[in-house]
Amino acid sequence: MLEQAGEADLAKSVAERVALIPKENKAGEKLYRERLEICRGCDSLISGVCGRCGCYVEIRAARLTGHCPAAKPLW
Ligand code: SF4
Repeated sequence: MLEQAGEADLAKSVAERVALIPKENKAGEKLYRERLEICRGCDSLISGVCGRCGCYVEIRAARLTGHCPAAKPLW
């Protein structure tokens, strides 16, 4: 997502942060991909950042308890 936005260095840094999330707190790969796919189609996404909360969605989606911050959450 950040990678596609031309932010390779940032994408690497975010991937490192995701890797630090303990396994028991991490969303499964399928859930993670589903969440990011929804973000990709969302008007609030700006270069890998959620315009509603300012988070990198790749980190937010990776946390098992993460949620979409929209008033009507999309995931
Ligand atoms: S509002 Fe929700 S779906 Fe949209 S970018 Fe933010 S986290 Fe993703």
